Amino acid sequence: MYQAKASGRNSLRFFDPAMQKALEERILLESELRLALQKDAVVLHYQVQVDEHLKIIGAEALLRWQHPRRGLLEPGHFIALVEETGLIVPIGHWVLESACKQLKAWERNPFSCDLQLAINVSVRQFRIKNFVNEVRKVLNETGANPARLKFELTESLVIDDVVDTVEKMQALKKLGISFAIDDFGTGYSSLAYLKRLPLDQLKIDKSFVRDIIVNKNDAVIVQTIIGMATSLGMDTLVEGVETVEQQDFLSLAGCRAYQGYLYGYPVPLADFEQQISRQVISVSS
Ligand code: C2E
Ligand code: MG
Ligand code: MG
Repeated sequence: MYQAKASGRNSLRFFDPAMQKALEERILLESELRLALQKDAVVLHYQVQVDEHLKIIGAEALLRWQHPRRGLLEPGHFIALVEETGLIVPIGHWVLESACKQLKAWERNPFSCDLQLAINVSVRQFRIKNFVNEVRKVLNETGANPARLKFELTESLVIDDVVDTVEKMQALKKLGISFAIDDFGTGYSSLAYLKRLPLDQLKIDKSFVRDIIVNKNDAVIVQTIIGMATSLGMDTLVEGVETVEQQDFLSLAGCRAYQGYLYGYPVPLADFEQQISRQVISVSS
């Protein structure tokens, strides 16, 4: 029935044992995930973000699931399910709370007190009616400085309901939170919407970086995005930088902030805190 509905309704689908197996796996994964939330098996890893001098300016918090049998799982293995089942709401709340607690803890350390921490906010979480109040409450309870907190939204979230998005973004912005558009360039970016949103940063998607050395078009696209962002008063950060050659190319194209394996993988908190004690990342080709 679900398959028939997913294919546009008013159609027939025949039962296939493979469907049953996929369904059983899904149900198992969902119950395991609910348990994981109670057992602190869901954790955040942190990936550094650096400026043009490779000084650490912040981090992105990325979700990981310490699965009892399958080991450490990246979001690609479970985020779709988390979205579909609505589990993204409690998980998203947990991410927000954990990030705020972390920011508060970092205030005590001179190496981390100036860092910006970015979290990914999913469409379902953002659309909760009282999302703004929820954020306000978490900020009050944790005492985190909202100026250090950044929300990453996707282009699809923004265009899904522009009126609601603008309203909530403006209210959150008043609290002091900043905003980045994630994976920029992969969606249906509408310039008309972009200029209506109180955005601080465009995060240029890693797909433009991968072939930047061999594909001149990618360099032009990156340059164009940076020019447009600057004109609209936003800054830019490029994600997915893996080699010094890519970094050099991007620097020529006008990039001033980077994130990628070249500077550091997403790592557990203890490793991240070791990284930031070095303050500046050194890279070699
Ligand atoms: P994203 O927000 O675009 O995060 C960047 C992804 O790129 C991360 O994958 C990161 O590990 C990966 N990455 C970083 N540097 C490089 C690089 O140099 N090369 C390559 N090839 N990849 C790189 P990850 O951790 O698997 O996360 C995937 C996606 O899952 C994220 O994409 C984000 O959309 C989602 N996600 C992660 N954490 C959360 C969360 O807490 N809440 C929500 N709603 N979504 C999350
Ligand atoms: Mg992101
Ligand atoms: Mg991204």
